Amino acid sequence: MSYFVDKNICIACWGCLQICPVNAIVQNDKSAEIIPNICIDCGKCGNICPIGAIKIGIDTSNKILPDNNSDNLSYETVDKNFDIVIIGGGPAGLSAGYFAAKSGFSVAIVERRQKFGEPVACAEGISVEGLTKIFPANDEWISSKIEAVKIYTPSKRMLYIDHPDAGFVLDRPKFESALAKMNVELGVKIFQKYSVRKILGESEIDSILIENDDNLLELVGKYYIGADGIAGISSRWAFPEKILADEDFHSCAQVLLGSDEISGKPVAEFWWGKDIAPGGYIWVFPKGKNRANVGLGIVPKFGDGKCANDYLEQFLHTRFKNFRIVEHRDGIVPTTRRFSPLGRANLLLVGDCGKLTNAISGGGLDSALFSGKLAAETIADCKNCNFLKILNEYEKRWQKSNGRLLDIYAKLRKGVSRLTDSELEKIADILDKKLSGKVWYGLDIPAIVWEIVKSSPKLLSIAGKFFVNYF
Ligand SMILES: Cc1cc2nc3c(=O)[nH]c(=O)nc-3n(C[C@H](O)[C@H](O)[C@H](O)COP(=O)(O)OP(=O)(O)OC[C@H]3O[C@@H](n4cnc5c(N)ncnc54)[C@H](O)[C@@H]3O)c2cc1C
Repeated sequence: MSYFVDKNICIACWGCLQICPVNAIVQNDKSAEIIPNICIDCGKCGNICPIGAIKIGIDTSNKILPDNNSDNLSYETVDKNFDIVIIGGGPAGLSAGYFAAKSGFSVAIVERRQKFGEPVACAEGISVEGLTKIFPANDEWISSKIEAVKIYTPSKRMLYIDHPDAGFVLDRPKFESALAKMNVELGVKIFQKYSVRKILGESEIDSILIENDDNLLELVGKYYIGADGIAGISSRWAFPEKILADEDFHSCAQVLLGSDEISGKPVAEFWWGKDIAPGGYIWVFPKGKNRANVGLGIVPKFGDGKCANDYLEQFLHTRFKNFRIVEHRDGIVPTTRRFSPLGRANLLLVGDCGKLTNAISGGGLDSALFSGKLAAETIADCKNCNFLKILNEYEKRWQKSNGRLLDIYAKLRKGVSRLTDSELEKIADILDKKLSGKVWYGLDIPAIVWEIVKSSPKLLSIAGKFFVNYF
């Protein structure tokens, strides 16, 4: 028994290559491949694979039908057509389901996980506005508030920003279970522990095949919403040619950490520096009860060959004297421009599936919740229009709200990843001058980013004109 990559599932995101401690994984045409005599069966690749394509056992993947071949499959058709079928029940899918059902649609959500929100592959941080403009905050699924921010520069200088309404650290399993319950209360049919195996249809989606251990079912919808994350089957149906390039994502290693050193006022820490997180940064997000999500995202090509987990281990031992790892929470984050258009035919893409993240911070929870709502409401407002009109309208609304700013961040990202340590120190000087020594409510982040951009010829040349048009 050893680890292998199921080639029918692998979406060639190459996240696993970045986590392997012994370089046992190679890029093989359109999928990753594990070289058995180098692999040490540590299982890290299995943990990081966002779609569960790395398995332990005997490789039978060649015997499985390829994704887009439905011949010879015998399946039952669910005895009901839905107005909207949603692929994936994470934050984006559950938000879409809730608002679609509120608009009076019959809705199905297909979610392959056994428990909503688990395993967590997220630091669970979200701004107050990012959450509350979609759902009211609820103490039952908020682990902690964030009331201040500390930034540690490459020279280990510390900036303290007193920001009582900075954000929340969610408890994603509780949050997503609560959203699922709200969906069910509105009549949404959730197919839990079902995985979408195939999307049927060429020019538009006719139906999808979903499976669990016992059943293979066909679900038919009029509209479909792709909410299945960065490595989803729906974005591959919409854009089969587009795979992530090596700078299109951050490879993230993260742990839920227990330590007595995490106590007192809930302060989020950010650590910058080429040596500790090349191309990215480190975060420490307090979760209450002496726990924190501690992780980092790196652009592997800027590193010295070490994987994200190696950098994290190094950091844990320098930052904490005593700690205990409760669980690993690795994953990858899309940090590139979104898909355009945001879907195809009768499929709209939301959340990570549409690559709707903030490419600089890697945060995507707020966009996932927002885009889910936006997609559902656009379909409701345009239900008498043709698919193209709905897609165009969704795209237009996205661009008018979050889209333009996220596009600018996506342009900036390559420049930000290439900032030298001394350039990072200069940025810290600007932040120090502007933000230290006061209490800040409702910080205008885009305005601060613009000030930083103006101070850096490198960033100004990349994004100056876009920012000028933005303000
Ligand atoms: C280490 C790490 C830390 C992060 N920290 C933060 C943070 O602090 N703040 C922040 O805002 N963002 C953070 N992010 C990003 C954030 O997690 C994502 O942007 C967010 O989860 C996107 O939500 P989503 O619903 O679009 O996708 P997902 O959360 O990925 O949900 C997709 C769902 O679809 C399901 N699915 C996938 N394929 C299928 C299929 N074939 N059939 C059925 N179901 C399927 C999955 O099981 C999953 O439940 C982090 C990401 C990582 C990796």
